[in-house]
Amino acid sequence: MSEEKNSNEIEEIIQEDENDKTEHYCYLCRRPESVTGKMLTLPNNIYICPDCMQRTLDSMSQGQFGFIDARNMDLDNMDISKIMGDLQGMQPQPALKKKKKEKKEKQELSLTDIPAPHKIKAMLDEYVIGQDYAKKVMSVAVYNHYKRVVTNTMDEIEIDKTNMLMIGPTGSGKTYLVKTLARLLKVPLAITDATSLTEAGYIGDDVESVLSKLLQAADNDVEEAEHGIIFIDEIDKIAKKQNTNSRDVSGESVQQALLKLLEGAEVEVPVGATSKNAMVPLTTMNTKNILFICGGAFPNLEGIIKKRMMKKTSIGFEADLKDRFDKEKNMIANVTNDDLREYGLIPEFIGRLPMIFTLEGLTKEMLVEILKKPKNAILKQYQKLLELDEVKLEFDDGALEAIAEKALEKKTGARALRAIIEKFMLDIMYEIPKDDSIGRVTITRDYIENHGSPMIQLRDQ
Ligand code: ADP
Repeated sequence: MSEEKNSNEIEEIIQEDENDKTEHYCYLCRRPESVTGKMLTLPNNIYICPDCMQRTLDSMSQGQFGFIDARNMDLDNMDISKIMGDLQGMQPQPALKKKKKEKKEKQELSLTDIPAPHKIKAMLDEYVIGQDYAKKVMSVAVYNHYKRVVTNTMDEIEIDKTNMLMIGPTGSGKTYLVKTLARLLKVPLAITDATSLTEAGYIGDDVESVLSKLLQAADNDVEEAEHGIIFIDEIDKIAKKQNTNSRDVSGESVQQALLKLLEGAEVEVPVGATSKNAMVPLTTMNTKNILFICGGAFPNLEGIIKKRMMKKTSIGFEADLKDRFDKEKNMIANVTNDDLREYGLIPEFIGRLPMIFTLEGLTKEMLVEILKKPKNAILKQYQKLLELDEVKLEFDDGALEAIAEKALEKKTGARALRAIIEKFMLDIMYEIPKDDSIGRVTITRDYIENHGSPMIQLRDQ
């Protein structure tokens, strides 16, 4: 009798198991059991996939979790619930976002979506002042790049990737150009600083972290990220260190590590974090269609160019030549691959950046234009703000020049403009709303140079 009861109970349990069709998800990487294979079941309905379990054990044996010594562990009889208890403090990262299908279809690039180079340049013109050559080079390069991506001609005709290297003084618009470009083309953009990168295994981010950033910018949509742009700023800071005996983990090694990304490779990327560890799910990204743009100010590069040019023409009178080169304003535009090699970039790295171009230092006239012309010019922003108080704000030409002169002194390019304006606009923004009768404020050179006050006109009554 009791045997019959037992077999009935077992049948019931089997039946319950079969009815239980809900899929289990890994507590750490959030992937379903159908993808990961059979999961380990822990108390409180926690499931762990074999990959995450393995990674956790690997990390423990590498000593990442100081509280467990994996070397003495009996893997067959270990207390998994205790380990999970120890890991409680560490929250699992969010899983890859699954985008809705319709949205993805909409975002797929097609040849007609890519504006022609002259259109890209015209759009850049609305925001970026001067730098005509850089804008032209970028427009053509970006157009060709996305044409190649969309039509997938890479594999048949082997059109080379047009990664770029832009050289120009600080504050001349390098980052701004790239940002504007990515916004106009509606592609994800990641901006990273080469100084924070180090060879894998050392303190700092390893180079693959730039891909994680791009993935984040694309809302964890791998396909979209694979068409994005990565801007690596301060690239001159990873030049090969001269006269060093120690291992160059933040210079030449970083260039070496970047090579495979620049060219195109399948890379395992952590999702939602910049470093790989047991708690972070990984995804694979292909960098074949990612456009890499590197930028840097390359101080002292002019010296290297001058030295080379002097050598080439050494038959002439040296003093005369030196004089001529010293006077040349845009010396940096004469840069060659040899100069960059001399600077400390390794040939393989230069070879993967086929578009090399320079930006000019901003002149006083350009700074004045930057103040008033772009679509989102700083002056237009202040004018709009005061317009809401029904006050007209004007700057006379002398004032604009004075602001530009002050900015030039700071030697940080257009970056200085906002700081200068914000300083003296503070008083105006504070005082004007106090008095309803004010209708127009004109900022003059005297006011900028602290010799007088702005001209105020009252409203017509
Ligand atoms: P960097 O060359 O050091 O990367 P940025 O591009 O970051 O300089 O420039 C700093 C800021 O100065 C930008 O956010 C932008 O507002 C302004 N700026 C710089 N160059 C230009 C330019 N040519 N036209 C318009 N604005 C510019």
